[in-house]
Amino acid sequence: MNSAIQTQLPGRQVNRIIPARSTIEGGGFQVYRPFPGLDADWFDPFLLLDEMAPTYQNPGEAVGAPPHPHRGFETVTYILQGEVEHRDSAGNHGLIGPGDVQWMTAGDGIVHSEMPSTRIQTEGGTGHGLQLWVNLPAALRRTTPRYQALPASEIAKATGEGWTAEVVAGELLGTQGPAETHTPIGYARMTVHPGARVRIPVEDGHTALVYAFGGMGLVGATQEPLATHHLAVLDRSDGDVVLSVPDGAHTPLDSIVLTGQPINEPMARYGPFVMNTRAELEEAITDYNAGRMGSIAATGTA
Ligand code: MN
Repeated sequence: MNSAIQTQLPGRQVNRIIPARSTIEGGGFQVYRPFPGLDADWFDPFLLLDEMAPTYQNPGEAVGAPPHPHRGFETVTYILQGEVEHRDSAGNHGLIGPGDVQWMTAGDGIVHSEMPSTRIQTEGGTGHGLQLWVNLPAALRRTTPRYQALPASEIAKATGEGWTAEVVAGELLGTQGPAETHTPIGYARMTVHPGARVRIPVEDGHTALVYAFGGMGLVGATQEPLATHHLAVLDRSDGDVVLSVPDGAHTPLDSIVLTGQPINEPMARYGPFVMNTRAELEEAITDYNAGRMGSIAATGTA
């Protein structure tokens, strides 16, 4: 600690700031991935966060994620730009466009494809989005798959002095998001403008994460710098998450704020499967290979 006078606001301290690493996913698209990382406990009940990098794809060159399985958790897709076409082995089919969210419970097992829409594949276009994986407790891991299509028009909007929020799940500053969740989860997109500060109450003991995907802000009691493609992990003490943007900044901070009750169970994970034990993982692989998670063609919607 240096001798300079340090800002100290009431609220949660930043535990750490994690830079996302860039990696390649699916059919060959770039993602920024702040976690999983070294310690799964920091992020519990969240398993993975991918920012599908902002991109422009030429006609005929757009790539996505062709059919693949999941078991034991939920995938939440938030499209910021572009258009993703979803199909799955439960017969669901949907087009996810700018501002739309899809909250899919893989539960017992599902096979799905997440591809740029036919229009984008034909004409080319921009793409940018987020995918979050939400863990399920042992008692719900193999729950019946569920599909929630949440169009932009149904996402709850909240505004305050110098900030706007789109609340997908849970309650943020008095606004309730539309998604149904299996455990207490908060998911909101938060835009904070230069010179503004917002305090977000979070339940005592719940995880709180802030991921920046545009601009730069300051986070936590000591107002640590949070740049694009970085994730702030707040401590789990009682208190608010404080987010601000300095007066002189040129652009707003665009971020998502994730909160949730930790599940605190042992976990075994392998690729698209997340279970509690290694034996359950092996069973998932066997079930998938035996076709017990279904196939997209079999539903007749392909
Ligand atoms: Mn998937």
